[in-house]
Amino acid sequence: MTVALTGGIGSGKSTVSALFAALDVPVIDADQIARRVAEPGGAAYPAMVALLGADAVGADGCIRRDHARKLVFRDDALRRRLEQIVHPIVRDEIGKAMGQIDDPYCIVSIPLLLETGSAGEFDRILVVDLPEDEQIARTARRDGTGAEDVRNIMLRQADRATRIKAAHDIVDNSGEPGELHARVQQLHGKYLHLARQLSDNAGPGAQDSG
Ligand code: ATP
Repeated sequence: MTVALTGGIGSGKSTVSALFAALDVPVIDADQIARRVAEPGGAAYPAMVALLGADAVGADGCIRRDHARKLVFRDDALRRRLEQIVHPIVRDEIGKAMGQIDDPYCIVSIPLLLETGSAGEFDRILVVDLPEDEQIARTARRDGTGAEDVRNIMLRQADRATRIKAAHDIVDNSGEPGELHARVQQLHGKYLHLARQLSDNAGPGAQDSG
């Protein structure tokens, strides 16, 4: 069973992913994959360099992420073209990674799940939810990003109501970090149970039993 984990900037996706990983649940991280395919030798690298130009490549051959971010920040068409290069490759890599998993279920952390129209590719959607003011405060505390920049990113992400509507399950992360453990444990039990049901329904004889 595949569980897509999503949420807005600073909502706590990485924190929740780490709690599932600590329970030995396999976690596939779309952001990590996106970084890997953009490295020299990665599947997206040649097309990204062709699009962004030689200035975007540092002395070590790596694409300078800060430079790329600045370029797409002020050029929406460029951002879309970059996404058209990166998203299908990331989607493909996620599919391959999911195909290699033997466990009852896996978590796929995918920040832009709804924005990229990928929701239908997963069995369940788990949303980490946080009031927007708190998203801004926590992102600032984490890495010093200014409120204005966080708001600009949030404008390009699905809004809170849209995410909640799409969710099968929600983690409310407005409390203390310690409260997340119990909620993740509870979801883990639920997902193991659902995964067992799914595999029973798909197993031999499932069609015979109607
Ligand atoms: P992004 O989309 O920007 O990568 P994210 O959704 O992965 O962010 P995290 O990095 O997990 O979010 O969390 C954002 C920040 O908030 C981190 O510094 C994290 O340690 C902190 N944080 C997470 N949960 C809580 C909580 N319940 N209370 C306070 N701080 C928290």
